[in-house]
Amino acid sequence: MAMPAAGIPARSAVLSTTELSPIWHPSPNFGDRRDGLTPRLVVIHYTAMNSAKAALDRLCDPASEVSAHYLIGGDGTLWQMVREQDRAWHAGAGEWEGQTDINSRSIGIELDNTGSHPFSEPQMSTLEALLPRIMKNWSIPAPGVIGHSDMAPGRKSDPGPHFDWQRLERRALAKPRAPVTASATPSPEAFRAAARRAGFTASVDDAQLLAAVRLRFRPWAQGPLETGDLDALTLPDTIT
Ligand SMILES: [Zn+2]
Repeated sequence: MAMPAAGIPARSAVLSTTELSPIWHPSPNFGDRRDGLTPRLVVIHYTAMNSAKAALDRLCDPASEVSAHYLIGGDGTLWQMVREQDRAWHAGAGEWEGQTDINSRSIGIELDNTGSHPFSEPQMSTLEALLPRIMKNWSIPAPGVIGHSDMAPGRKSDPGPHFDWQRLERRALAKPRAPVTASATPSPEAFRAAARRAGFTASVDDAQLLAAVRLRFRPWAQGPLETGDLDALTLPDTIT
């Protein structure tokens, strides 16, 4: 392998946080965070659009009344549309850990993806460089990184079954799942109680709750409630 020329740093395969330089592309769709709230969560989305350009146009169109703080293109390009201290309009109605107005409590990241295909390596690399920076800026712990479907079950399904949560978990960028254990099929009540403890407090029926938990932890799972669904939720909350 050739040595880099003097004064030119070698390009690492993994983006470091300091190498990130978002392209500023301001959106008019934001306001002040309410009640002096600061970000405690990061909400991950997919755009469900055919290109990053189309998503950028929509997220910056006053008529759309939607936005996010960041958009990551499929090629790893990072755009910033709203300052982190401001309230972007990405989460909408929903609830997490008993709290509503998620927009006032979160940073929103949109991933350029139609929802029907895997997320690219450059895009995931940029996300993995961006998340630690946001988490450090606002002292957000790994369990504070959630999906849109976590806080809006029954209404939203992004970032969807193709998103690699385990990859983020391995890097302490999301709450880890519990190991699988052998136990009896859980009751819906036990499952709901465990889901509530894990943050899934939004008011939805059993099927919608199961679907939301599976989107996050077990997108391959099908059929009725089973042991693995409960197991995924029951890790003691030791991550700070
Ligand atoms: Zn979303």
